[in-house]
Amino acid sequence: MENQERSMGCGQVPKEFVGKKIQLAGWVHRRRDHGGVIFIDLRDRTGIVQLICNPDFTAAICMEQAHSIRSEFVIFVHGSVVKRGDEAINKKIPTGSIEVYVEKLEILATCKALPFQLDEADKVDEELRLKHRYLDLRRPEMHQKIKMRHDVLFEMRQFFNAENFYEIETPILSKSTPEGARDFLVPSRLAPEHFYALPQSPQVYKQLLMASGMDRYFQIARCFRDEDLRANRQPEFTQLDIEMSFVSEDHVQKMSEQLMRRLWKKFLSVDLPETFEKHRYDDVFKKYGSDKPDMRFDMPIHEATSLFADTTLMFLKKTIDKGGKIGALLVKNRSFARSELDGWVNFVTKSLGAQGLLYIRFHEDGTPDSPVSKFLPADFFSQAQKIYKDLTVKDTLFLVAGEYQSAWSILGKIRLEMGKKFELIDTSAWNIFWITHFPMFEWDEENKRWQAMHHPFTAPEKEWKEKEPGKVYARAYDLVCNGEELGGGSIRIFDAETQSDVFEVLGMDKAMVQDKFGFLLEAQQFGFPPHGGVAFGVDRLIMLFANTDSIREVIAFPKNQRGICPLMDTPSSVDEAQLKDLHIKIVSKDKK
Ligand code: ASP
Repeated sequence: MENQERSMGCGQVPKEFVGKKIQLAGWVHRRRDHGGVIFIDLRDRTGIVQLICNPDFTAAICMEQAHSIRSEFVIFVHGSVVKRGDEAINKKIPTGSIEVYVEKLEILATCKALPFQLDEADKVDEELRLKHRYLDLRRPEMHQKIKMRHDVLFEMRQFFNAENFYEIETPILSKSTPEGARDFLVPSRLAPEHFYALPQSPQVYKQLLMASGMDRYFQIARCFRDEDLRANRQPEFTQLDIEMSFVSEDHVQKMSEQLMRRLWKKFLSVDLPETFEKHRYDDVFKKYGSDKPDMRFDMPIHEATSLFADTTLMFLKKTIDKGGKIGALLVKNRSFARSELDGWVNFVTKSLGAQGLLYIRFHEDGTPDSPVSKFLPADFFSQAQKIYKDLTVKDTLFLVAGEYQSAWSILGKIRLEMGKKFELIDTSAWNIFWITHFPMFEWDEENKRWQAMHHPFTAPEKEWKEKEPGKVYARAYDLVCNGEELGGGSIRIFDAETQSDVFEVLGMDKAMVQDKFGFLLEAQQFGFPPHGGVAFGVDRLIMLFANTDSIREVIAFPKNQRGICPLMDTPSSVDEAQLKDLHIKIVSKDKK
């Protein structure tokens, strides 16, 4: 066929075209043979249209071709648009009131037996889908997700353009910056024995761009972190990275709120509040045992240490003597079977790795019903009512004892699990808020040193040098939505002195600081403006908008849960010559 230009997309044939000649191309979605008349659903990105091949109007040679056609062949057709009879109208597709009578047909590409039927992809092993990702992506459901991704990125770009931000790309071959994960390293051929690191985020570059007077920067940036892979983690992921000069926390937060309001409105038809609530980290952690609590349901943690001040229960007494605390969750009005309670104990000890979970139920008369009943005072119920004013004998208390941070983290996880199991979460709600006043430093017990809770470029509060490191607050903030962290950022350090002091608290000696961050300290002495920023996880945002639980559904070519790309079989070995160029010798494990 000479002229192979399509008249339009398959899903775009309008009913006004009835009686007109048309040229279409696409994939054979379905083919049915009705006694010598062949029906083909032809598909492309725009949708589906029905074709009919019939010896009455289809050239004989093309009829032969039509018989040989199978699913996912690529074909090109010439035909006429015909109105369907009333009984044959398909209301499910936009082209359902017409069909195309094929006059000429050409097979542009055949298709081998498919590894899985595209309309059954939901039922096949994800590994198989990833191995043939181009087929998987051919499905209309996947097209929608990829289109959603495009739309979200485009919306972001429009927003920042209107707000006078510059989109600036920063290097992929860069130097290691500490964002808390391991770096992916790239050996240098030109500088033997030296390595680039793939950026864990563009953090330092975006700060340097502020030093360059760029004022407002954003980037849809790829970040690389070599971490153990959990369910929704990818070794490379995308961040919306933002930095602004001459700003306070409020400016950055306001800008982020405007963006989120716009995205929620556009992609979910939801009006988020004009300004988002702010909660201090300490308050939130005390109440929910998490720095990203799901506040769509209540069930707060209460401290119950005082109830056990005179306890004879050895493990509780020991915890209290060591300065530990006891936290309690109250489950209202729910009768637990014994096996169910054992299940919760199991979950806490096995899945959460905690030492134990104590539960206390009550008899009608208020006496405790618990494996530790005989250690509890007779008036336990009325004592407990001082903590939980609305406690009744129909309720159950769950207690965890231990060092505050770890006990409360465990309670936070139990709370979340119970919220899900007992269906306490209002899944129609959008609960979005900032967490502020994070601790600047956390004690790393294993390595016996202070670590930056965010990153070492975060500005500490004003009078920080007069406080112990563990009591210093950072000018950092996270945005949390429905129990997920959407992103986080901070006001940054912009003077070399504070930056050096922070490095010192983190236990970095001068030589190491010079080697790793000498360039930053130097830049901070050449007129560095005050600045701050934030970064949001783009993949996670798109997951929310596309209503999917898996990050791999919104990335065109994701890695599997072991960090492998089954399509290209990456990572893979390389040949000797390449290694030689890089001055690298593989020492295989068994040769050691
Ligand atoms: N670079 C930080 C991160 O990736 C975000 C920020 O502080 O802007 O977590």
